[in-house]
Amino acid sequence: MRILITGAAGFLGSNLCDRLISEGHDVVGMDNFVTGSEDNISHLFGNEQFTFYKHDVSNYIYVPGKLDAVMHFASPASPNPASPFAYFNLPIQTMKAGALGTHNTLGVAKHHNARFLLASTSEIYGDPYEHPQKETYAGNVDITGPRAVYDEAKRFAEALTLAYHRQHNVDTRIVRIFNTYGPRMDLEDGRALPNLLKQALLGEQLTVYGDGGQTRSFCYVDDLVDGIVKLLYSDEHMPVNIGNPVEMTILEFAEQINKVTANKGGIKYVDARSSRDPQRRQPDITRAREILKWEPMVYLEEGVNKTIPYFKKKLGLA
Ligand code: NAD
Ligand code: UDP
Repeated sequence: MRILITGAAGFLGSNLCDRLISEGHDVVGMDNFVTGSEDNISHLFGNEQFTFYKHDVSNYIYVPGKLDAVMHFASPASPNPASPFAYFNLPIQTMKAGALGTHNTLGVAKHHNARFLLASTSEIYGDPYEHPQKETYAGNVDITGPRAVYDEAKRFAEALTLAYHRQHNVDTRIVRIFNTYGPRMDLEDGRALPNLLKQALLGEQLTVYGDGGQTRSFCYVDDLVDGIVKLLYSDEHMPVNIGNPVEMTILEFAEQINKVTANKGGIKYVDARSSRDPQRRQPDITRAREILKWEPMVYLEEGVNKTIPYFKKKLGLA
């Protein structure tokens, strides 16, 4: 296939480019570098299976040549208000990437008669009342809250994707991605793993927000990419959760990171997030197991160990 990947210079997009190229596909990457980095794809420049366009997906998209698939991953994605790259601090760009970007990429898929895959998010469930979250749960999103620019754009993007499927017969797929970590994460984007692993490798105290009792479920990037590729190859049109169902508190997560890195810095509790921080999050992956025959294989300790060399290199420690 010849596949357009938007957000190709980001954490997930660049890992996806590598995987699809290794499977023999041609990839057309697109990114405007608002939160991503050329470093993530520079190894692909010169590869005849890879073409790149620097372009903002909120504007009309033209890609010459045929396309068999379009994967829309472009969006700011960090929820940390302290980061300049967070969607809180790029509110209009975030809404445009989710709304106009999805409209434009669906238009590209329709024009090329290509299949389409939308990168949605567990954030569409908001601060959930149902636990774990099944795809049938409609969510608890605060429309005017600080996360709304991201959550509502993704909810709109899902609805528009299904509208194109139902009205124009576009061959669409929707993946709801839960917290993912691994090499090529931006060390400065303020998400939990980059913050805590960076602190641990520098021998510092780990910043746990609030009392650390809020939970998340962390998926290693190779597992996630595997699930996404299986979804791309499938015929499933309704949303599918992809994530690791092993739920833990953020305090337990921080303690694990200290253990894996043998960090003696300990933990410091800080009041860095509003009360809108979702309190529990865990994917129900029954649909992925049944439809895609997929489930994650990498344990947290193994995944953190696989991520450490990248972080050490970026920190100048290796
Ligand atoms: P990222 O910030 O590393 O990558 C996003 C990429 O999109 C960046 O390279 C950025 O420059 C690009 N981009 C943003 N707006 C753009 C625009 N208007 N035009 C062109 N390019 C643009 O983030 P990520 O973690 O790789 O996330 C990728 C996708 O996966 C996002 O859509 C995000 O919502 C979704 N997602 C990620 C996670 C996760 O845990 N990483 C969880 C849920 C959903
Ligand atoms: N978190 C933390 N310390 C940090 C960064 C994040 O305790 O230095 C917490 C954050 O409050 C949240 C969880 O870790 O409860 C996951 O945060 P992340 O930003 O990775 O993603 P989210 O799941 O909130 O979208």
